[in-house]
Amino acid sequence: MRISIQACVEGADSSPRVISIGCVERDAGVDPASGLGLFLREAHELLRQIQTLVLNEQADEFVRVAAGCLACGRRLGIKDTKPLVYRTAFGKAILRSPRFYAHCSGCGLRSGEGDTVSPLAHALRQRCHPQWTWLQCRYASVMSYRLAQIFLRDAFPGGKELPTSSIKRSVGGVGQRLEREAKRATSVAADSFTRANRLPLTGTPSALQIDAGYIKTPPQADGRRWIPVVASKLFRSDRGRGYAHASALGLGRRQGMRQQAFLQSVGVDRQSPVTVLSDGGDDISHACKLPAATARVLDWFHIGMRFEQLLLGVVVLFM
Ligand SMILES: [Zn+2]
Repeated sequence: MRISIQACVEGADSSPRVISIGCVERDAGVDPASGLGLFLREAHELLRQIQTLVLNEQADEFVRVAAGCLACGRRLGIKDTKPLVYRTAFGKAILRSPRFYAHCSGCGLRSGEGDTVSPLAHALRQRCHPQWTWLQCRYASVMSYRLAQIFLRDAFPGGKELPTSSIKRSVGGVGQRLEREAKRATSVAADSFTRANRLPLTGTPSALQIDAGYIKTPPQADGRRWIPVVASKLFRSDRGRGYAHASALGLGRRQGMRQQAFLQSVGVDRQSPVTVLSDGGDDISHACKLPAATARVLDWFHIGMRFEQLLLGVVVLFM
């Protein structure tokens, strides 16, 4: 048996085209218990072919539309075409990225600041599909880069050409972007509390759990082999879900405002009083000083730990 898979491409201003994607062949004598349906290798190959087709068609369509003069619609003169590598979970494609002369020969309008414009290269600043970056970060955040690479290699066709260094770079890029956003949100929160310092805390009360930990690292410039991390968790009963936030940038004075910015980012009003649940450690003293904090409570886990230590002491005394 042979099953051929074809795609029919219907452009806006062109007649339909049928393109072969691949085929699946099965021998009638093969025991079905060895596996019915597609195998991973076949599925990956078919997905890769479909993705290559979709990427090329979509990119060409975009360039066709973007290559028109903004004023008269006349097609800009093409200078040359360069390859553009774009990576996705379903494989990478080398797209055609033409460069056009910015000067329109019809009406004289200049599209862009330079002599040439590359619409596709300009539109695809990140040469990686956002979902592919998200998948890399999702798994590299809960396991080692190496294990994440093995999992992505087995699960997605794009993982075949994904070195751990790329995953590391993706995670670093996303981490830096998140940090920039968090810093901006912290500044906005600080400004809002400066202006609204006198407002009474009359909103819905919420509870924020904060703790600190230490992550082992290669030796730092000052000889340390660890970095401090502050993590916090908020549970919203009205939404039936929790939110978590963590940063590994030291135990600075702005940690409290950062916690406040985190609360505001998940919809907790700045006038909501906050009860902080934490241990009594000095390492999180700054993080617990939120502008909206009204109480700091030692949580049950840490109380339990103290009892365990006490009981241990009692046992040692009587031995
Ligand atoms: Zn024009």
